[in-house]
Amino acid sequence: MTDYDPDFHTPVPEPHRFAIRAVPHPAELDARGIPITCPNCRARRDWLLLNVRHQVFVRCRCAAEWHEPDLSRAYFDQHFTESEREWESFGDAMTALGFDGLLAGTVWN
Ligand SMILES: [Zn+2]
Repeated sequence: MTDYDPDFHTPVPEPHRFAIRAVPHPAELDARGIPITCPNCRARRDWLLLNVRHQVFVRCRCAAEWHEPDLSRAYFDQHFTESEREWESFGDAMTALGFDGLLAGTVWN
């Protein structure tokens, strides 16, 4: 054995990979005590919650998406562990879940 570490001499950065956990949340979401409203289309429900690393994002059917600091990863884990899924790419996840904007304005009754 030597101390030679081949990786040390070839500092190739890790590919930008991260797992996305996405969980639909059809009902209103009121982490702050008031329902979250989409800043783009004013929708008040039918969200997709995204957990990327330690941040939780909210995504609307219109494809608007924003970081929601009131939704912690702990909140995500506590409420939405059962149906979580993972995708390798963000685009795959959005298309699979119908949150790529094609269903903007759709109201599910
Ligand atoms: Zn929207």
